[in-house]
Amino acid sequence: MKINTEGLQSFIPDDTIQALLQSESKAPASRIRDIIQKSLDKHRLDPAETAALLSVKDPELKSMIFEGAHELKERIYGNRIVLFAPLYVGNECINDCVYCGFRISNQECARHTLSHDELVNETKALVNNGHKRLIMVYGEHPMYDPRFIADTVQTVYETKFNKGEIRRVNINAAPMDIEGYRIVKSVGIGTYQIFQETYHQKTYEKLHPTGPKSNFLWRLDGLDRAMKAGIDDLGIGALMGLYDWRFEVMGLLYHAIHLEDTFGVGPHTISFPRIEPAIGTEFTQHPPFKVSDEDFKLLVAVIRLSVPYTGLILTAREPIAVRNEVLPLGISQIDAGSSIGVGDYAHKDDESRKKSQFVLGDTRPLDDVIYELAKDGYIPSFCTSCYRAGRTGEHFMEFAIPGFVKRFCTPNALLTFAEYLDDYSSERTKAQGQKLIDFELSRLEDTEMKASLTEKLAKLKAGQRDLYY
Ligand code: SAM
Ligand code: SF4
Repeated sequence: MKINTEGLQSFIPDDTIQALLQSESKAPASRIRDIIQKSLDKHRLDPAETAALLSVKDPELKSMIFEGAHELKERIYGNRIVLFAPLYVGNECINDCVYCGFRISNQECARHTLSHDELVNETKALVNNGHKRLIMVYGEHPMYDPRFIADTVQTVYETKFNKGEIRRVNINAAPMDIEGYRIVKSVGIGTYQIFQETYHQKTYEKLHPTGPKSNFLWRLDGLDRAMKAGIDDLGIGALMGLYDWRFEVMGLLYHAIHLEDTFGVGPHTISFPRIEPAIGTEFTQHPPFKVSDEDFKLLVAVIRLSVPYTGLILTAREPIAVRNEVLPLGISQIDAGSSIGVGDYAHKDDESRKKSQFVLGDTRPLDDVIYELAKDGYIPSFCTSCYRAGRTGEHFMEFAIPGFVKRFCTPNALLTFAEYLDDYSSERTKAQGQKLIDFELSRLEDTEMKASLTEKLAKLKAGQRDLYY
C-alpha cells in the first residue's frame, strides 16, 4: 500500500472550533432548551449548537442535557442494547502510538498472531458463550494486509459450533487504500471502524511519531476511501485523554458532517474510548487530558444529542459503575464478556496480560452482564437481521424510518434474546430474561405482530434457530 495524501486537506477547522467553544460558553438556558428540542425533533446539530452544549457548567442545565439524551434514546431507539465482543487477531504493530501496549517500541508486549486453528478455537469459545456479533481487531503490520484480514473474517464466518455461529463481523483495523477496502468488503463485513484518536493535528503528530499512522491526513481520509470502495457502514471515534475532550467531540461532529456532505451518509457508529492503563506504557498512567467521570457523562450525552442518527458504542474499558450510569444517556451497543489478550478466549495463560492492548474495566462474564441488563429493563439484543437482509446502516434505519423499531428491532431483539436464554444462559438469567420477554410481549400494541412473534418464539422453543424479521 502506498500512502498518498496529495490534494488532501483537513476538514477540521481548529480555529473555528476554538472560537465556537469560546463564543458559545455562556449560552442562556433558553438556547440550551431549544438546542435539545432540535435534537429531539430528529435534526443533527450544527457545530455552534454542539459547542453550546459542551460548554454548559450549570448543574441544572447539565441535568437538562442528560434528560434530553435519555429521552432521545428512549423515543427513537427504545430499550434495546446490542451486544458484541472484540476478537484480537494479532498484536504485531509497526506504529509507535504512545498510549498503546502494542506499539513497536514496547519491549514488554508479548507478540502473537492467531494461527488458523487458534482463530477457529477463539471463535468457538465466543460462540459457546452465546456471542453472535464480533469486532475483529488488528495491529498495523504488513502481515495484516487486506487479504489476511478478509481471510480471517471468512474463517470466523465459516466456523460453526454446536447450535451457534457468528453472524456479523465488524472490523477495527488500520486505514487501507481503496483496493484494500474492496478486498475486505468482498467477504461481507459489517462496520469498518477507524478511530482518529485525536482530531487536533499538532497533538496527533506528537503522539504518533513513526510508522504509517504518523500521517494525520491519510488517517483522516481513511473513511472517505472506504466509502469510495463501497463500504458505507462506517464507525468513527476519538480516544479521550489525548487532547481537550470538548475539541474531540467537535472533531467527531465535523467528521460526521464531512461524510454527510461528501457521500450523503453519515457515520454508522461513534466511539469515545477513554485511555486505559497498558503494560509497559507510562503515558497511560497520566494522560495529558484525562477525562473525569462527570465530564465523560456530559460528553456522551452531547454526542447523543448532536448526531441523533448514529449508534453509540460504550466499551468494557469503562468500569461497571460508569457503564451503568452512562447507559441510559443514549448508548446503543456494548461489548460484554470481553477478553482483549490475543488468544485469550480459548486459552488464558500467564502471558495474557502481556498480549493485551490495555486493561479492561468491566470483566464480568457475558451472562452476568445480560442478567443485569434484563433486571434493569433493557432488552439484550444479538440481532444481525438488517445486515443479513441487506439493509445496511441499521441505526440509521431505526432513526429514519417511522415504525422501524417496532416492526423489526424490538421483535428481533426479543427473538435473539430468547435464543440466547435457551442455548447459553444460567438459570438465574433465564428466569429474569423470561420475565422481561413476557413483559415486552404484553406491551406490544400491534396485535398482528404480537401473534406473529408469539408464534416465532414457540418455534424457537421447539428447536428452530435464527428466526428474524
Ligand atoms: N491498529 C489499528 C489502529 O490503530 O487503528 C487498529 C485498532 S487499535 C488495536 C484499537 C483502538 O484502541 C485504537 O484506535 C485506540 O483508539 C484504542 N487504544 C489504544 N490504546 C489504548 C489504551 N491504552 N486505552 C484505551 N484504548 C486504547
Ligand atoms: Fe498499533 Fe493501533 Fe496500537 Fe497504534 S493503536 S500501536 S496502530 S495497534
